[in-house]
Amino acid sequence: MNIILLGPPGAGKGTQAKRLEESRGLVQLSTGDMLRAEVQSGSPLGKEAKAVMEAGQLVSDELVIGIIANRIDQPDCKNGFILDGFPRTVAQAEALDAMLSDKGMQLHAVIEMEVDDAALTERITGRYTCAKCGQGYHDSFQKPAKEGICDKCGSTEFKRRADDNAETVTSRLAAYHDQTAPILPYYRDKGMLKKVDGMAEIDEVTRQIEAALG
Ligand code: ADP
Ligand code: AMP
Repeated sequence: MNIILLGPPGAGKGTQAKRLEESRGLVQLSTGDMLRAEVQSGSPLGKEAKAVMEAGQLVSDELVIGIIANRIDQPDCKNGFILDGFPRTVAQAEALDAMLSDKGMQLHAVIEMEVDDAALTERITGRYTCAKCGQGYHDSFQKPAKEGICDKCGSTEFKRRADDNAETVTSRLAAYHDQTAPILPYYRDKGMLKKVDGMAEIDEVTRQIEAALG
């Protein structure tokens, strides 16, 4: 099964993608994570993307489409994948369709996670992850069971994203409404769009996604 989790930054896509990896054996393909890895490694691609990401804008379609085209060819994607943060423009959605049909692959569902802008700011500014295993947390909404210790791997090191600050959130939400939201009718017209209430608690969102996927 190949699915897209679609929603604004902070909607809970990464949180739910990690759960679907475990429940369904799918692999999470997060273009944000891939780009951050490129920035971290100091590659030419990372150098190109860094300033754009820090400004909360979208990197070029060409760049992310190239990244996803390579990633989808890896053997671990054969059992199914969850796209998280891609596509983010109509051009990316069209490129994805072309790419999948070339490879004889299919998209099974697009899950829209609806969350109010006010809640997104709070989610993004309180977000952090385990530096070792990547498990996601939140200052108020998703704390580790024992403070300062990752539930999943026991690490005591955590990190926050450079772009998770109140200033950048405004540009990121504007980019979502202007450039990404127009994808919704694209998938609605194909009869693929399923909505879940992203404002609900994390476990409830998981239940709604599982129900939508059948
Ligand atoms: P995205 O991948 O869509 O940007 P994340 O999954 O990283 O979003 O979630 C953003 C932050 O909000 C994280 O700190 C996460 O722990 C928290 N979070 C995710 N889902 C919910 C939810 N349903 N209710 C409250 N907080 C949530
Ligand atoms: P995310 O981790 O999904 O919140 O993405 C972080 C940042 O990476 C975004 O604000 C963009 O600058 C960039 N990015 C991630 N995915 C894409 C994409 N599909 N298209 C363009 N830019 C992207």
